[in-house]
Amino acid sequence: MKSSMQGQVSPSSDAGDNILRQQGSGGLWDSVKKAAFIIGSGIFFLAAFLNSVTWHLQRFWGASGDFWQTQWTKIHHLFGGNEWALFFVGTMIVPTASFWLFNALLMVADSTGKPSFITRYRIQVDKNNPVDPEKLRQAVKTVLFNQVFLSMPMVWLAFLVMKWRGDPCGPELPTFHWLLAEMAICGLLEEVLFYYSHRLFHHPAIYKHIHKKHHEWTAPIGVVSLYAHPVEHVLSNMLPALIGPVLLGSHLATTSMWFTIALLVTTVSHCGYHLPLLPSPEFHDFHHLKFNQCYGVLGVLDRLHGTDAVFKQTKAYERHVLLLSLTPLTESIPDTPKKLQ
Ligand SMILES: [Zn+2]
Ligand SMILES: [Zn+2]
Repeated sequence: MKSSMQGQVSPSSDAGDNILRQQGSGGLWDSVKKAAFIIGSGIFFLAAFLNSVTWHLQRFWGASGDFWQTQWTKIHHLFGGNEWALFFVGTMIVPTASFWLFNALLMVADSTGKPSFITRYRIQVDKNNPVDPEKLRQAVKTVLFNQVFLSMPMVWLAFLVMKWRGDPCGPELPTFHWLLAEMAICGLLEEVLFYYSHRLFHHPAIYKHIHKKHHEWTAPIGVVSLYAHPVEHVLSNMLPALIGPVLLGSHLATTSMWFTIALLVTTVSHCGYHLPLLPSPEFHDFHHLKFNQCYGVLGVLDRLHGTDAVFKQTKAYERHVLLLSLTPLTESIPDTPKKLQ
C-alpha cells in the first residue's frame, strides 16, 4: 500500500508544481485549500477503511479464537511439558520448512526457466536465465550451514533468556490485538537494527571481509537471502529478527509466526521476480544491483537518511508498487520509454 502510493506521488506533485507556477499567488491559496481538502478526505476514508478492516478481523478472530486455542492446547499436551522441543519446532522447524518449501519452488523456476508464468516477471531480465548450478549449490550449502550452526544455537540462547524472564510456551494464546501489535513492533525493531548494521557492513574497512559474500549476487535469487558470512548472519539476519520477541517476551505462537513471515518476506525481496500480489522486491533488488542504495527493509530509514535518492530517479522506483495486474512491470513500464524510440 505504502509502496504503491510512493510510486504515484512524484508525477502528480510535479504536475501540481506546474499548475502552481502558472496560477501565481492568487491561485496558490486555492490550490492549498484544494490540496488540504483532498488530503483531509483521503485521511478520513483511510481511517474509516482501516477501522472496518480491524472490525472484520476481530470478528473473525472472535469466532476462530476458540478454534486456535483448542489447537494450541492439543499441541501443548502433545509435547507433555518438553518446552524446548516445542520451542524448537515453533522457531526452527516451522519457519525453516516454510523457507525451503518456498525456495524449492523458486529454485525450480531459476534452474529451468519454467514455468514461464513465473519467469516472465523477472526483474533483471537477462540474469539467472538459467541460474549457474555451481553458484546455486554453494549458496544452498552456506545457507544450511548458517541455519544449523548459527540460527539453531541462537534460538536456543533466546529460549534460555525468554524462559528466565517469562513463559514463552504458556498454555494461553495471546489476544489478536496483542499479536498484531507485537508483529508491528518486531517489524520496526528489525528495520532499525537491520538498516544500521547493514550500513555498517558497507563501511569500506569491513565490507570486503564480511558483506562482500552476500553481494556476490548482483542479481539475487530467493535462497541468497540467507547467503552471508557467519558474522553477518548473526548480527544482521538473526539479531534484528530475535530482538523483538526477546524484548517483548512474546508467546511462541507469535514468535513462530513472526519468524516465518520474516523469512518469507526476505525470500521475496531477494527472489528476482516481481510477482502479482506479493510485496515488491524492487527495493532490495536495486540494492544488490547498485550496492550503495536502499539499505533497509521497509524503506523508512532510507527515506530519512536519503539513501534512496538515486533509486527514486529510476524505472525500478516506478515499478516499486504492489502489482495488481498480470502484466509484468518490465512490460508496462519498459526501460526505455516508448515515446523516445
Ligand atoms: Zn540482500
Ligand atoms: Zn548490502
